[in-house]
Amino acid sequence: MERVVRFLGGEPIVATYVFEVGGMRIAVDPGPASTLGSLEVDAVLCTHIHLDHCGSAGHLGKPAYVHERYVRHLVDPARLYEASLATLGVYAEVFGRPLPAREAVGVPDGARLFDAVDVFHTPGHAPHHVMYYYRDEKVLFVGDGAGVYIPELDVVIPTTPPPFRLQQYLESLSRVRGLDVDLLCFPHFACTRRVEILDVHREQIVGWVEALRDLVGGSVDDAVRAVAKVDENAAKVLQTGGLYADFFLRYSVAGLLDYLRSASSS
Ligand SMILES: [Zn+2]
Repeated sequence: MERVVRFLGGEPIVATYVFEVGGMRIAVDPGPASTLGSLEVDAVLCTHIHLDHCGSAGHLGKPAYVHERYVRHLVDPARLYEASLATLGVYAEVFGRPLPAREAVGVPDGARLFDAVDVFHTPGHAPHHVMYYYRDEKVLFVGDGAGVYIPELDVVIPTTPPPFRLQQYLESLSRVRGLDVDLLCFPHFACTRRVEILDVHREQIVGWVEALRDLVGGSVDDAVRAVAKVDENAAKVLQTGGLYADFFLRYSVAGLLDYLRSASSS
């Protein structure tokens, strides 16, 4: 399997995985429109429609597979882009404007694609989130449903931007934990055979939620410091800085604060 890393300003933003099945080259999450390089593939699997993952799906002109209820956002991405500008601000501009996909294919939960890849709807990070399980090689493409794995720091941190749904997320994790997996592949940013990372991550996210419970309404900076205090993974990322801290850590903390706020008001 090939791994193609896309960079923003010299820092990795997403890894695209390309593998071959039945004579077809399949790309998982081709990355943002602005960073698309040459990619010779026959089909694209989108774990979800966030711009950093599948913003370039339309540019490739190949069939793009996506959660069955969100096909329209690939066919006509104008509203998705407007919504991304509202939530991500300058990052949406940096990721670039998506083009309409020529052919978007909706995938139902439980579907099997190309006779080899099983589809799991895994909401939580986003309602349109899907994981793909490549059965022959026992590879699980986790999308943003199992955190951000940073190999050079050997850490995992949540990727939980608003609107995050904790219960759905944990249920999704439990669901795929039962699969026979040899390799977990994270778009941010590498694959690992340490499948137990899924359990580490589950505990981590519950720990972050506890650490942030009394900080709702406070600043994101304080909240970031609070999670770094209880989690050495977060502390390492904060110390490293760059996109890891400015983009992933801050948006994840903001999403959990937003979740706690909405949970307390409902
Ligand atoms: Zn995402």
